[in-house]
Amino acid sequence: MTDSSPLILIIEDEPQIRRFLRAALHSHGYRLVEAETATDGLRAVTTHPPDLIVLDLGLPDLDGLEVTRRVREWSRVPIIVLSARGQEQDKIAALDAGADDYLTKPFGVGELMARMRVALRHSAQLNQDGNEPVFQVGELRVDLARRQVWLAEQEVRLTPNEYKLLIVLVQHAGKVVTHRQLLREVWGPGYTSESQYLRVYVGNLRHKLECNPARPRYLLTEPGVGYRLVDE
Ligand code: CA
Repeated sequence: MTDSSPLILIIEDEPQIRRFLRAALHSHGYRLVEAETATDGLRAVTTHPPDLIVLDLGLPDLDGLEVTRRVREWSRVPIIVLSARGQEQDKIAALDAGADDYLTKPFGVGELMARMRVALRHSAQLNQDGNEPVFQVGELRVDLARRQVWLAEQEVRLTPNEYKLLIVLVQHAGKVVTHRQLLREVWGPGYTSESQYLRVYVGNLRHKLECNPARPRYLLTEPGVGYRLVDE
């Protein structure tokens, strides 16, 4: 661990989960600051500016959703929320309020590390101002500059809305994007409850991009939450 290791702020009131996170993060070389309440957590965001926040949704003073909203008023720091089963609506609301991803308890170290890597990489790219011009995963290649989509050696023809939907997923590759977010970015703010549009267009994209649309490898469903384009 060095002073240049990413600094992770954990906002979590349950001691056994903090203990688990502490052990996992230390063993992977991260530095960390811990807060047991939303108030202490919000203070720590300014006193020890973190590279990433791991935020529990159920806190004793304010809920994690409110913490997400307050942090997003002035900071783009990546936020991964931790939710308990039964907090589905809070989790989706936190993602819509600007959280980057979520984990449902109980979760494993491997899953936590993968989510953190993606979130930290995205924030580094944002700071460098712009994404890679070509996105590639497996046989899928999206050339953002030329607006071309390739599957192995074959160019794939997409309609304008299919392309827009794919681009939003590419811009968030590796992270979950909620139904609401996708509808807003592709169709506009008046369409955020038209989830049947999404089902149709995701189905079309899978038919064009997946070998077996019924068992997708690239465009994954996050049940009840949204979709995730894999990126590793
Ligand atoms: Ca809690």
